Amino acid sequence: MPKFQAPRGTRDLLPPEMPAWRQLEDNARRLAALYGYQPVETPMFEDSAVFERGVGEVTDIVEKELFRVRSPGGDADRWALRPEPTAGICRAYVEHGMHTLPQPVKLTMFGPMFRYDRPQAGRYRQFWQWDVEAIGDAGPAIDAEIIELAYRFLLEAGVANVELHLNSIGDAVCRPQYIRALMEYLAQFADQLPEVERHRLNKNPLRVLDTKHPRTLELLTEAPRMADYLCEACRAHWDGLLEHLTTLSVPVTPAPLLVRGLDYYTRTAFEFYERGEQGQQSALGGGGRYDGLIELFGAKRTPGVGFGVGIDRIAAAAAKRGLSATTSKPLAIVVGADPAATAARLKLATELRAAGVPASADLAHRTLSRQLESAAKAGAHFAIVVGDELEAGQVQLRDLEAGTQRPVNLADLARELQRAHTSHHHGD
Ligand code: AMP
Repeated sequence: MPKFQAPRGTRDLLPPEMPAWRQLEDNARRLAALYGYQPVETPMFEDSAVFERGVGEVTDIVEKELFRVRSPGGDADRWALRPEPTAGICRAYVEHGMHTLPQPVKLTMFGPMFRYDRPQAGRYRQFWQWDVEAIGDAGPAIDAEIIELAYRFLLEAGVANVELHLNSIGDAVCRPQYIRALMEYLAQFADQLPEVERHRLNKNPLRVLDTKHPRTLELLTEAPRMADYLCEACRAHWDGLLEHLTTLSVPVTPAPLLVRGLDYYTRTAFEFYERGEQGQQSALGGGGRYDGLIELFGAKRTPGVGFGVGIDRIAAAAAKRGLSATTSKPLAIVVGADPAATAARLKLATELRAAGVPASADLAHRTLSRQLESAAKAGAHFAIVVGDELEAGQVQLRDLEAGTQRPVNLADLARELQRAHTSHHHGD
């Protein structure tokens, strides 16, 4: 057992995983630009209150999972690592007066989030999200645009059978009536509910719909449905959203129990799954409308909608489908007959790199045959052998894959390697 390990719930992303990871990041950035979403970066920690307000006090994320940061000044609860991106982005929207920009303000961010949850498969304490937010448009067309963008990203990532679970959770007009009906219904069965659900029922009743408890789930099949309580405006928004999604050919799976764990959502709530993989740990992404959030940060009421998709889980789902890990192989390694002549090898590698050729030098003091062995083991296409001919401006270019070798003039070396590089796709 090594003395130190990555903290529980975190992991190292090692080189073989990175090409697939980078691919997802590139896709996210390209799609965001294509759809007109501009990149932002907010701090990885904020005033705890940004999350307490922006996510909600009675949510798992704030009650149990917030990573508090103890500052040297002793403010134990003042700061917290961001558990999700929306609250920070909305804080930034208000702080920088983005309401004066043309609306909606379309923003995107890619980065790590932190939740102090019990780690398990697909659930980490540090995980990555790609996040997209459109602030300042009440929808429903923009809701559809954003959902289609997430859907496209998942399809491009190679996730098979993406399923969009969609619900409306109403607004401040109709949700209270629904909550009352839900509470009345569940109160009849209070003795059958576990302690945690009774707590939720009192503090934040909608969260009972998130339950994993089998008996509660059973009871919920007969419970009142938000869909039957939507006010006229929410009903029109819902119908409009379905119409736009049909136009965009995004298939919808209605999900009457979907509420999401965050307080600030209004109307649209959605999550993405791989068909057949359900449950809290398998959501690939989710989002919704948060028309009440900006107001909580002290600005005038401003609608917003967004999503966050989980890069760790999407990478895992894509890997399952054979989009496997790869290691990129070096194009060329400079080796030499004189083990001690590291300066000559390093100089040549440096010149090649300055000319744009990916090359490295063997800097260990070991025999030429050992150096060649090592180059072959690393999967290098070429070994450049430096010897006595260097003074005459020549090196030997050995093609390790073909098993051939020929002298090349130093003046031609970069060009020769570049040609080989473009005709031979390394790392694919
Ligand atoms: P949420 O805001 O909780 O809906 O998170 C959005 C997405 O981020 C989820 O659908 C997951 O794909 C991903 N995600 C959330 N929490 C975690 C976690 N602890 N570990 C890995 N991925 C996560």
